[in-house]
Amino acid sequence: PLIKSMEIIEKPNVKYNDIGGLDQQILEVREVVELPLKKPSLFKELGITPPKGILLYGPPGTGKTMLAKAVAAESEATFIHVVASEFAQKFVGEGARVVRDVFELARKKAPSIIFIDEIDAIGAKRVDLGTSGEREVQRTLMQLLAEIDGFQPLDNIKIIGATNRIDILDPALLRPGRFDRLIEIPLPNIQGRKQILRIYLRNMKIDGSVDVDELARITEGFSGADLKNLCTEAGYIAIREGSHFINMTHFKASIDRLRSKKISKDVIDR
Ligand code: ATP
Repeated sequence: PLIKSMEIIEKPNVKYNDIGGLDQQILEVREVVELPLKKPSLFKELGITPPKGILLYGPPGTGKTMLAKAVAAESEATFIHVVASEFAQKFVGEGARVVRDVFELARKKAPSIIFIDEIDAIGAKRVDLGTSGEREVQRTLMQLLAEIDGFQPLDNIKIIGATNRIDILDPALLRPGRFDRLIEIPLPNIQGRKQILRIYLRNMKIDGSVDVDELARITEGFSGADLKNLCTEAGYIAIREGSHFINMTHFKASIDRLRSKKISKDVIDR
C-alpha cells in the first residue's frame, strides 16, 4: 500500500471540555457521530439512519480538527487523519489508490473515524478539466464518493470533512448519503472567547490583575488558535521581563502584537 498506516492513525487525547465556545456543535457531533458508533442498535430499533459523513466548516483555527479528535477519543474509534491537499500532491497519479487504501484501513481498524481536512483541495467545483492535474484530482474525488457510497450508515465508520471554503465545494459531495450534515464552526463570540481563555488560563500563573471578561471583550475576531497564541505570547513577555506572574499588561501587549501581525497577514492574503 502507498500509505504507511502508522503515519495517519493517531490516538488523540482531546476531551470535549478542552474545547471552548462550541457547546452546541459538540452536542450535535455527539448525536450524529458518537452515538451511532457506540449504540447502533438504538438507531436500528427506531429505524432511523444517521449521516455517514458530516462536514465541519468555518474559518481556520476555530477547533474543527480538535472536535474531530475529541469525538474519536470519546467514541473509542480509530482516528485516521488525512489532509486532502496532501493526497492530491504527494502521490501524483495515485490519489484514487490512496483513497481506497484509507477506507480499507478504516474497515480493518473499525470502529473508525476518517477525518479529511481541507476537503476543498479535492472537492472543489471544477469548471475546466483541461489539465492532467485537474483530471487526477477529479479521479480522486470520484473514488472518495464511490467509497462513501459503498458503506452503510450503520457500518462502524464515519467520515468527518473539514473546510474553510464551503462556498466552492462540488454539490456532489453534499448529496444525501454523503456529507449530508453540515455543522458550522464559527469564530467564537464573546462568551466563546471567555470559555476558551479560561481553558488556557487554567494552567497559567496569572496575578489578580488579569480580567478574563475584559480580555474576551477586546479580542473580537480572534479564533481559538489566536487566543491560544495570545496566552503563550503573554507568557513570553512575562519571561522577558523576569516576572514570575503573568499580568494584564502582558496580555494587553500580547494582543497589540498579535493584532498588528494579523493586520499584516490580512494585507498579504489580499
Ligand atoms: P484549520 O482550518 O486551520 O485546520 P481548525 O479549525 O482545524 O483549523 P484546530 O486545528 O482545531 O483548528 O485549532 C488549532 C489550535 O487552536 C488547537 O490545537 C487549539 O490549541 C486551539 N483552538 C482552536 N479552537 C479552539 C477552541 N474552540 N477551544 C480551545 N482551543 C482551540
